[in-house]
Amino acid sequence: INRFSTVSASQRLAGKVAVITGAASGIGEATAKEFIRNGAKVILADVQDDLGRAVAAELGPDAAYTRCDVRDEAQLAAAVDLAVARYGGLDIMYNNAGIASSSQAPVASLDVADFDRVMAVNARAVVLGVKHAARAMVPRRSGSILCTASAAGVVGNAVPHSYSISKTAAIGVVRSVAGELASHGVRINAISPHGIPTPMAMRGFGDVFPWASPDEVKRIIMRDISEMEGTTLEVEDIAHAAVYLASDEAKYVTGHNLLVDGGFTVG
Ligand code: NAD
Repeated sequence: INRFSTVSASQRLAGKVAVITGAASGIGEATAKEFIRNGAKVILADVQDDLGRAVAAELGPDAAYTRCDVRDEAQLAAAVDLAVARYGGLDIMYNNAGIASSSQAPVASLDVADFDRVMAVNARAVVLGVKHAARAMVPRRSGSILCTASAAGVVGNAVPHSYSISKTAAIGVVRSVAGELASHGVRINAISPHGIPTPMAMRGFGDVFPWASPDEVKRIIMRDISEMEGTTLEVEDIAHAAVYLASDEAKYVTGHNLLVDGGFTVG
């Protein structure tokens, strides 16, 4: 049990409509659940159809799953359009889908195919998600866009390079468009987690440290936080941050990167 996880259910997002990418698993799944608990309607977008449908079914009539490969602009546009058609408008867009890099090569032998693969999901797709969220939100002069970046996009000397660069780019998207969107009543913020043993993180570290056992991989991922406070970050900790940033309680918070990393980036 995470002893810091004390937020109780309320209706902070009552009547709001959300699209969450990468919602079939991990942070996206936890956030979908927390959004529903707070009164939102949620479109869960992912490429893991069976998992996504199962999560949506568990969440009930205010949730729906749609297949959406975020690398494809038309599919992202369709997910936004589905929210508008089904629930009447888009209030929250959470660009959360992400993948790990499978190469820890030094920069002189950077695996460019791996770089392109990671950038397509972790950076380019964030731009596309922001584009189509803005298309839906700007005319209504309201909305909150969220993006999952990473502590790896904040600290220097983080490896794998491709992953770190892609997450810095996601933070860059937020910084680049926040001012423009603010003039239209739309907010955009990043959330930067660290060290949660989700499938992506386990797979990613498993590739980077192929010699490590699953337990060892888990220890590597969680080391920084678990040794600090005797607790670990959980996907719900990110979901709670997402609820806050998506809610009207954060109405003057924009252009921000909210680190939820147990102090990892403090140094
Ligand atoms: P996860 O593996 O549980 O979830 C990632 C989800 O993204 C999966 O359901 C996957 O199917 C989906 N996805 C991948 N490629 C996609 C695509 N092309 N189109 C649509 N969906 C796609 O992992 P998670 O840790 O919950 O990851 C969520 C986000 O959090 C990612 O952006 C990740 O980089 C970021 N993050 C995680 C950690 C951590 O410690 N777990 C730390 C920092 C940042």
